[in-house]
Amino acid sequence: MTRTAQIAAELPDYDPEALRASAVGAFLERLVAPITETEEVGLLDALGRVLAQDLISPISVPPHDNSAMDGYAFDGAALSPGQPLRLRPVGATALAGKAGAGPVDAGECVRIMTGAVMPAGLDTVVPLELTRTDADGCILIAADLLRRGANRRLAGEDLMQGRVALAKGEPFTPAAMGLAASLGVPSVTVYRRLRVACFSTGDELLSLGEPPRAGAVYDSNRYTLLGLLTRLGVQVIDMGVVRDEPASLEAALRHAAGQADAIITSGGVSAGDADHTRRMMKQLGDVVFWRIAMRPGRPMAVGRIHADLQAESTSSAQPASASSYQNEDSGGCMLFGLPGNPVAAMVSFLAFVRPALLRMMGSTRAGPPPLRATCTEALRKKPGRTEYQRGVVSRTADGRLQVRSTGHQGSGMLSSMVQANGLIVLHHGQGDVAAGDMVDVMMFDGVI
Ligand code: AMP
Ligand code: MG
Repeated sequence: MTRTAQIAAELPDYDPEALRASAVGAFLERLVAPITETEEVGLLDALGRVLAQDLISPISVPPHDNSAMDGYAFDGAALSPGQPLRLRPVGATALAGKAGAGPVDAGECVRIMTGAVMPAGLDTVVPLELTRTDADGCILIAADLLRRGANRRLAGEDLMQGRVALAKGEPFTPAAMGLAASLGVPSVTVYRRLRVACFSTGDELLSLGEPPRAGAVYDSNRYTLLGLLTRLGVQVIDMGVVRDEPASLEAALRHAAGQADAIITSGGVSAGDADHTRRMMKQLGDVVFWRIAMRPGRPMAVGRIHADLQAESTSSAQPASASSYQNEDSGGCMLFGLPGNPVAAMVSFLAFVRPALLRMMGSTRAGPPPLRATCTEALRKKPGRTEYQRGVVSRTADGRLQVRSTGHQGSGMLSSMVQANGLIVLHHGQGDVAAGDMVDVMMFDGVI
């Protein structure tokens, strides 16, 4: 039994003709491993990549106790309940970026600016606007105004030297970039970029620039998929349109497997007559074909193209690349064969391929949870399959989240994907939705 078949057979209630969407996710978690190669890159180049090593804090941030306000620093031990305090400012103002001032005597304080090192022995800051100055030039602090330690930031309160500041598997976000910079770290170790090849299959597909012809449609899947992949931060290899013809498909799969970690195709995975894709995928790899209990998006192929097939190109018009970047650990290049219908291709990508690619990229971060929103209308839903309906989420006048459907849910209607800002996810066991029911919504923000 092949590895994919073995994992599939172990899925609960495995049924290749009506597989639960949740089982596909579980399958991919078992099949897909993170790549192993890493590289060290400067902070700006690391944006959107995944950390391949814990970043250990070489220093503490802030490096010293400092003032959180413009005011006067004093020894908080002098505070006592119900008692006002009178303090005499001494010495120069403590400024940010200068060495620490002090020590001072009892009854004295030091004028201090935000970010300045706390003078030796002083632990509390009274903000300027909360003080009065008397005729002698002393400052007066009203009773019970402050607690000891107020308005002081402690050394290491953001990050402590020697601790994990950023964990392996975390995405390198703008916040992480700033945090690394705050530690004085100029570069980080990240996984190398994932390489993903993408092509569309179909005799009816026109490429941009070709004149329209009867019975033909423009290839849109490649553009939605290339866009989604670019957003994900992978290196995309655009392989264009491939005809429904065995030799072209074979050449394309071999060529893609020679240079990519994963191949994403669309079209030709349902059991139609003109679809040679299934046969060719089976011949070149360890691929399973499913009908998933979902809508839109039923047919899908998942598996690997064999690693040892990559170099020996028989009918290939394009030479296989000399450098091979396949996933060494797991032997071979991942293959995701998506359905041809444009919305089905996008939904299948979002539901299954995107999480799997993130895993290959080394990410261990869970995606954001779905939102819960009130559905403003009744939706028909058959129990026994997962439905992804295009939705528009907005806020009610009193600030609650609500969602409406974009209307027609045809699996070819890309216009509905453009109008939508999320997918209403109607789960496997769920039945009809009544107006006013709460539903889960997967938001598109940052993804589409
Ligand atoms: P298939 O999965 O190949 O049977 O295709 C299903 C439907 O999706 C057919 O109507 C195709 O014309 C359409 N289709 C397939 N691939 C694409 C594509 N790349 N762009 C736009 N429509 C497509
Ligand atoms: Mg087709």
